[in-house]
Amino acid sequence: MAHHIDGPSSLPRRNACPASHNEELAVLEKFPEAADRETEWSKDGEEKHALIASAVKERKEPEDDDLKYAYDIVISDMDTNPGETYEIVSEKEMPLAFDRFGTPDLVVYPQSIDVANVYEFKFGHTRVPNAEYNWQIKDYMLGLLDKGLESVCGKVIQPPLNSVSQYVESSEYSHTIRNGIKSILDRCHSENPAHVPGEHCKYCLARVFGTCHVYQTPALYFPRDISVEEYVKTLGPAEASKLYKTMGLALDWFSEGIKTMERMFMADEIRMEGFRKGMGREGNRTWKRPADAAATLRALAENNNIDTSKLFNMKTPKQVETVLKKVEGIDSEIAKLVTRPPGKRKMMEDE
Ligand code: SF4
Repeated sequence: MAHHIDGPSSLPRRNACPASHNEELAVLEKFPEAADRETEWSKDGEEKHALIASAVKERKEPEDDDLKYAYDIVISDMDTNPGETYEIVSEKEMPLAFDRFGTPDLVVYPQSIDVANVYEFKFGHTRVPNAEYNWQIKDYMLGLLDKGLESVCGKVIQPPLNSVSQYVESSEYSHTIRNGIKSILDRCHSENPAHVPGEHCKYCLARVFGTCHVYQTPALYFPRDISVEEYVKTLGPAEASKLYKTMGLALDWFSEGIKTMERMFMADEIRMEGFRKGMGREGNRTWKRPADAAATLRALAENNNIDTSKLFNMKTPKQVETVLKKVEGIDSEIAKLVTRPPGKRKMMEDE
């Protein structure tokens, strides 16, 4: 699916780091194919949106808990107007203000009045801003108001967190959203936009492909969606050699850092809640990336013909690890999913 460089999903990132616009532009000049990269997460999201839309059209409750959560909200919105008929549009590209375009997850248009509900579904565990502060949903709302609707309600639904928020705007006050988006875009296009690293960086192409001026050290990039081999193939010999050397230096620095921090935590020079208790204990596994654990687990199960019903009934990382360990040849995959507690067992002996 085509993406606009300053499309709705990038606005929260642009707002937090206006420099990401120029940095990503530089990446796209070098790697145009990165513009439309489809990740496991984006594919998973699109599939879920399609399932919600067809469930709503057919009024057939989905079995999956997260999908059902979203379905119930959409259906209850529709049922507030008994007898109304609706047009239900999912994943359809639409024009947006300032010559951009975007693809809302779901739009529901009642047929008798000039209003609409637009929905953004988030299936990760990292909390996204409520609708009132969410530039992504507000961007779609503005696009719909610009089509001539009198009023639009935007809802952000995050089933894994049981979270739903909404924001309503009328055509009369659409300028408030337009001014906000204009201000973000103006900052992006200014001569000297500021870099502000943060949680939003994980979706930034500049970080994935290593051009962000804040994250100067290549070893700190952690490209999310490509393997080391693929990434290294995108580099010239000088860049590759610099990366290799820097990774070595970073490795030394990190292993020294981990030892030092463990010593400080154990000595209570810095408090880290639960650190002393958790050190080295069996069973104290955590998800490596809690937000992505479910999608990673699903991919792992599909690729290795593992009975998913069995796997998804598992509640803890430890239980999942126990099941996966019985499958031959996926040890390195388990390590991507589950993290063991930090530190060494002998450090527990003091406790
Ligand atoms: S990685 Fe973060 S700080 Fe760097 S350009 Fe991207 S969003 Fe900005």
